[in-house]
Amino acid sequence: KKFVYLFHEGQGNMKDLLGGKGANLAEMTRIGLPVPYGFTITTEACNAYYEAGKTIPASIEQQTLEALSRLEEKMGKKLGDSDNPLLVSVRSGSVFSMPGMMDTILNLGMNDETVAAVAKLTDNPRFAYDSYRRFIQMFSNVVLEIDTYYFEQLLEETREQKGYLSDPELTAEDWKEVIAGYKEIVKKHTKKAFPQDPKEQLFLAINAVFNSWNNQRAIVYRRLNKIPDHLGTAVNVQSMVFGNMGDDSGTGVAFTRNPSTGEPTLYGEYLINAQGEDVVAGIRTPQPIATLQEEMPDVYKQFTDTCHQLEQHYQEMQDIEFTVERGKLFILQTRNGKRTAQAAIRIAVEMVEEGIIDKKTALLRVDPDQLNQLLHRRIDNSVEKEILAKGLPASPGAATGQVVFDADEAEQLAKEGQKVILVRPETTPDDIHGVVASQAILTSRGGMTSHAAVVARGMGKACICGCEAIKIDLRAKQFTVGRITVNFGDTITIDGSTGEIILGEVPMIEPELSDEFQRLLAWADEERKIVVRANADNPEDAKKAFEFGAVGIGLCRTEHMFMDSKRVPIVQKMILAENFGERKAALEQLLPMQQEDFEGIFEAMQGYPVTVRLLDPPLHEFLPPKEELLIEVTKLQILEPQSEELKKKEQLLKKVRQLDEYNPMLGLRGCRLGIMYPEIYEMQAKAIFYAAATLAERNIEVQPEIMIPLVGHVNELKEMRQVVVDAANNVQKETGKKIAFTIGTMIEIPRAAVTADQIAEEADFFSFGTNDLTQTTFGYSRDDAEGKFLQAYVENKILPENPFSALDQTGVGKLVETGVKLGRTTKPKLKLGICGEHGGEKSSIEFFYKIGLDYVSCSPYRVPLARLAAAQATI
Ligand code: ADP
Ligand code: MG
Ligand code: MG
Repeated sequence: KKFVYLFHEGQGNMKDLLGGKGANLAEMTRIGLPVPYGFTITTEACNAYYEAGKTIPASIEQQTLEALSRLEEKMGKKLGDSDNPLLVSVRSGSVFSMPGMMDTILNLGMNDETVAAVAKLTDNPRFAYDSYRRFIQMFSNVVLEIDTYYFEQLLEETREQKGYLSDPELTAEDWKEVIAGYKEIVKKHTKKAFPQDPKEQLFLAINAVFNSWNNQRAIVYRRLNKIPDHLGTAVNVQSMVFGNMGDDSGTGVAFTRNPSTGEPTLYGEYLINAQGEDVVAGIRTPQPIATLQEEMPDVYKQFTDTCHQLEQHYQEMQDIEFTVERGKLFILQTRNGKRTAQAAIRIAVEMVEEGIIDKKTALLRVDPDQLNQLLHRRIDNSVEKEILAKGLPASPGAATGQVVFDADEAEQLAKEGQKVILVRPETTPDDIHGVVASQAILTSRGGMTSHAAVVARGMGKACICGCEAIKIDLRAKQFTVGRITVNFGDTITIDGSTGEIILGEVPMIEPELSDEFQRLLAWADEERKIVVRANADNPEDAKKAFEFGAVGIGLCRTEHMFMDSKRVPIVQKMILAENFGERKAALEQLLPMQQEDFEGIFEAMQGYPVTVRLLDPPLHEFLPPKEELLIEVTKLQILEPQSEELKKKEQLLKKVRQLDEYNPMLGLRGCRLGIMYPEIYEMQAKAIFYAAATLAERNIEVQPEIMIPLVGHVNELKEMRQVVVDAANNVQKETGKKIAFTIGTMIEIPRAAVTADQIAEEADFFSFGTNDLTQTTFGYSRDDAEGKFLQAYVENKILPENPFSALDQTGVGKLVETGVKLGRTTKPKLKLGICGEHGGEKSSIEFFYKIGLDYVSCSPYRVPLARLAAAQATI
């Protein structure tokens, strides 16, 4: 089996085998770009390594040595040669890009002998010894697992001793001293001398890259991004080029378009006289790519041409790493660039306009999950605010939170329910859990391509980088800007779109859809075959839904209309009624209020259908909690034993106790309420028809769809249908207006799904209530499950995902599918939809499309996401 591929043997489409980095290095070699030559050890080799108990099998070792000889021939240099030594980098590269998550070693092949040769060959001893010490440091950290801290400590001591301010001041002789010290550190920690044999170095490094696949931060990253553990990483061995050979050398990274806004201009940064990691690590703040045009016009020209070529070749925005060695450009990596949702949309739309991709491709280029970033709030700029400092706008969005200076602390406070902003000089992959836990990130060092920026953009979190105006004191847990001190726990607001940092909280504004976004969604609407409606309970939500492109309301819950503080007393009167007459009187009072709500909602939807669900929750939800009442009653019994108040409260308590249930979720709720108290549903139906009649008078078309919840047996629906039909007839007689309406039911109990053929006899439509259907199918109460055991279930892989977020297609989905099939055997034209939260989740939407639903309904803010996901499902 072939485990090792020279760069010219591979291709861009071999990502699974060569990893993303390796495949693209091969592809760039193939199309003639200046890539330092090398070879790739496959991901299969990584798996073979683990199968062999973390050792490299002999055949792989053999193939690696062969590839090495070919590389040596091509370069005219030999690894470990005392006259003309080959130096290589050993780079990890998994199938999906995991920026900074795994380890890379540069300058491998350096030892006491070869360093002298490099010094002589380049006529630059300072460079040679600097490179050697970098190698010792990286190798010790990655392979020998010695903390970088020891090396940095020693370097700092040396600097201080010699009175230097920065590394470039160190001479070759100084570096030699540092190297001697470094070797001491290695000896002390490993009880062995630093390995001098380059082949030994190489295989130790390959081992370490394989091992890094399972280091803590790689595991966390994979879990966050749902990357399977079994893929393994490839290893790239590549001849070195040097950006640290002097002022005619440098290294940088660039995106072919702005990854934050999508603007079609080159975007990136570089450092003169520096080696790879320096830029990404955020240790020195680099220069913007535009200044390269002045400093090295020829290189800049060649680089922009290459960027253009790569973008055309991949038909995608690229994220490119490059190095300039003595005025000569080398490309070290290219990959599809990570970007914000805003940028993703703009780039996709503009690439269609530029003729690079077609509309369908554009639709696939935007991840629906990313869109809620855009539907995030922004700082209201019309309000006066005091700007504390300004940094680089590295990832858009605004956030308010308490300042924390440590990833562990961020995680801890977030667990306690606090909103925090992580403030660091720079972040490293070890801070990842803190980034996850924070609302936003603020760093004082590093550029737009620093670790913090890349990670924040990927997660859609606001981020400001390189804000040098803030002086962070990690030990005192504070930062200062001029004379202002901000302490741990103080509240700040940051705006990642402008780079502004503001003390305290600031008012925010609601998002709107950009022109490009509208265009993309219009393309999505052309493509999708499933309708997108929204869940909205009041006129404001209905308006928002309409604005975001919902073509109807799939679920209007009426219980929230009962919760209004003015109405609660009337609702309580209705519940507490001792007889039919009393209850009817309270309902008469509620009717005009409900009617008004419906008028508002119908009007906002401008003729699109509105599905109104009749009262669903158990009645005690409208009464004060038992414990509270008990305390009040006890107090009154002591203080005012004769009062009217006491009598009233005692009565209330009695009623609350009567309504108390062991399992309210499975108790007197849904259509069971309508069966026990038909006058409630009758009032609601009337309110709907009166509202429709009133609007008809104003020539506003209304399509009410009346939905009976929680039906499990066809007879329940049959009875409730009669109540609604009678109400309609009565209102019609009274108003003289004929109103078209339909009656349907929610399918949210397994029995309803498996007897859907019978239920369809009485229904004009079904709406699958997948929230309750998930609860009743699993037998989980959602409120208990999510807090108590679901997380553990997902972590231990008992369930692949939280079934309340992404539909459980095998179980709950099967019931939905059964309901669809049975329902349509009775009524082939039965209208079918879904109104659970799954209606706004992309994998679920795809499923609903496949099994033939007519529409999905989700919260107004998820409507754009659903429109896009619905289009993607068809492509
Ligand atoms: P990551 O996956 O973390 O980005 P890379 O393998 O891309 O790690 O290596 C990090 C940096 O090291 C690169 O951006 C590049 O600048 C530098 N580097 C890697 N290989 C070489 C090489 N052969 N010559 C010069 N620089 C290199
Ligand atoms: Mg890289
Ligand atoms: Mg329900």
